[in-house]
Amino acid sequence: MHTGKEVIRWCRYFEPSGFLMRLSVKVSPPPILSLALIIPGFKTIPMITPASTIRATSWGYTPDVTPEAAVAKARALAAAGVNLLLTENNRYILYNPRPGTPVPHFHFVATHRRDIIASTAVVTRAMHDAGLKVIHHVTSCYASADLAALHPDWTQRDLRDPDKPLYFGDYGGVHLFCPTNPDFRHAFLDALTEITLATDVDGWMIDEVEFLPDWFSCGCVHCRAAFHATTGLTLPDPAAAARWDDFSDPLRRAFIAWRMTALADFFAAVRQRLNDIRPDSILTACHANIVDVWSAQYWGIDKIALSRPLDLIFYEAYIRAGQAARSWPRHAAEEAVYLACAHRKTLPPFTLFYPKSQPEADFCWALAASRGHGLWSWFGKPAGSMGGEHGALANARSTPDFIWQSARPQLFRRAEPHTRIALLFSKATRDMISPMDNSAYIDPWAGWATTLLEANVGFRVVLDVHLSEGALDGATLLLMPDTACLSDAAMGTITRFRDAGGAVVACGETATLDETGALRDEKQQKAFVALLDLHMPQSPGAAALRHYLRNDQPVPPQPDKEARRQILAVIEQFSASNLWRVTCKEGSVAANVLRDGTGLVTVHLVNTSGLMDAMDEMDGMDRPEGDGGKGAADIATSQTLISQSASGLTIELEFPQPPANPPQLHQVGIDAPIDCSHQWQAGRLTLQIPDVPRYAIIELTP
Ligand SMILES: [Zn+2]
Repeated sequence: MHTGKEVIRWCRYFEPSGFLMRLSVKVSPPPILSLALIIPGFKTIPMITPASTIRATSWGYTPDVTPEAAVAKARALAAAGVNLLLTENNRYILYNPRPGTPVPHFHFVATHRRDIIASTAVVTRAMHDAGLKVIHHVTSCYASADLAALHPDWTQRDLRDPDKPLYFGDYGGVHLFCPTNPDFRHAFLDALTEITLATDVDGWMIDEVEFLPDWFSCGCVHCRAAFHATTGLTLPDPAAAARWDDFSDPLRRAFIAWRMTALADFFAAVRQRLNDIRPDSILTACHANIVDVWSAQYWGIDKIALSRPLDLIFYEAYIRAGQAARSWPRHAAEEAVYLACAHRKTLPPFTLFYPKSQPEADFCWALAASRGHGLWSWFGKPAGSMGGEHGALANARSTPDFIWQSARPQLFRRAEPHTRIALLFSKATRDMISPMDNSAYIDPWAGWATTLLEANVGFRVVLDVHLSEGALDGATLLLMPDTACLSDAAMGTITRFRDAGGAVVACGETATLDETGALRDEKQQKAFVALLDLHMPQSPGAAALRHYLRNDQPVPPQPDKEARRQILAVIEQFSASNLWRVTCKEGSVAANVLRDGTGLVTVHLVNTSGLMDAMDEMDGMDRPEGDGGKGAADIATSQTLISQSASGLTIELEFPQPPANPPQLHQVGIDAPIDCSHQWQAGRLTLQIPDVPRYAIIELTP
């Protein structure tokens, strides 16, 4: 929960209004933000209104960076509309050996801490002068061989073989410190403190807080003690742990759940230290694939758990060899879950995509913005490459989009989906029912999400962990696909929601287990299912799924039309929950409607014409598996990603009163908005848009 004081400190950092800027003597408005103050129609935002969006890029500077080079870089980034710099090439902050010690081979550049401090101070000063914020992006648990040899007592251990320090073969091979280890934690927090105070960085993105290489880590003495203190349970001896091969053992499931709590506790300790030394610091973490079992079950890292101590929610949209734009429904489904993690945060979440062409980079920015996310702009290097320059701004043509975005802060403020449809995402079901198997919950859940997204049915994701906290307020329809695990408290919330007039639709296995994965009393489960408005015994979700498209794999099976029809029939049946509808005569759009804390409604229309056609056309073609199959790389991602405008759009919205001002149509790249053709009748607003070449936003003042 954010206090009023916390809200003010956030506003101080990203709020574009002059009044709040003046609250802080440390912050001078960047030129591009100052422009916002004189834009006609721009209103001073009340103090507690959430802040503007993240427009980030990264810079991999070296120890010899000069003040002149830093100033030139900062001015270029400010002129390009960037408001946040993520540092790069200075991630290994624990590396601090005596001068003259040879630099070891390591995944990250091993720079002495004094050099990291000197160069980061130069860069931070220049960025602050240009109005940018700086978040220092660092590693944590990864260690080089020499540092691990110095501190063998800090290392992660395998439950089955606790005498041997653990090692992870990926990323060229890294040694692993344990985030529960008090000495490692002190050393890390002391380094973070020293750098914060000496450089004035505004926040931290802490990466690689993970239990590796698999789910038998960590069995060190500190983790054993912490597990017992938290759960009252005792971890098995090495021989018994070696027999853990499924989730039928409640102790096994308790350990899987505890690991995620333990990593969140590490971030809570960081937040506590920052509160002591610099309470206005921003804390964020790297995280990918929240809609997947891998990182949560196997590596113990889960953004839903981490969202407790974090200030800023970040989604790394990394899929190996992925085609980001042609996987947009699956990425948008993930973004909806990250947005739910950011529900109580003041800043909107932000996404890092790995586009492979300029049109794809442009599309990814629009997709993120339409989902209430900011962007870490990245383009120009193969995904996964480390070091050097990251970001569209240095490597590709100068994109106008950040500049265009920063000049219209009211369209990109912290906002929530404008909808009465809630789609439940169950952390417990993801984590507890099936080891490393996405077919049990993830695929059917994502099938519902991608079907709704492609059909432009607005929804918001509600997390099971938020259910007892009023998360269903404002919803009239709750969709809960394949939710095997539900706590008694969650069932109580859903029952009360139903009693108060809400509709609940479920499918597949529903509430057969509690939130720990333990079997629920059958009578209680049957009574719960009996009160639902609709329960579909067979889930259509998995068959309806739109998969990721990857360059190095055959085109995945296309969504089954009948399964999608079943999902959309549910929406039709409960159509009173739908607040808006978008139709297109030619082409297609990905549409979303957001509403911010001031009541401002924005309709986001991202042109997707032709984007899925190539995939759909290939459906049913003779496509043998393996090398002989039709690879996704055969579908061009080049300059012809979007070949035509979407045209003849009609947008219908529930709107209780006629809008106070004419709806404004903003087309990306075009300076002045135009009045949008509209009709209002009996609480219904109808808007007509001739065409959307790339991305358009309609601004509706209530
Ligand atoms: Zn440990």
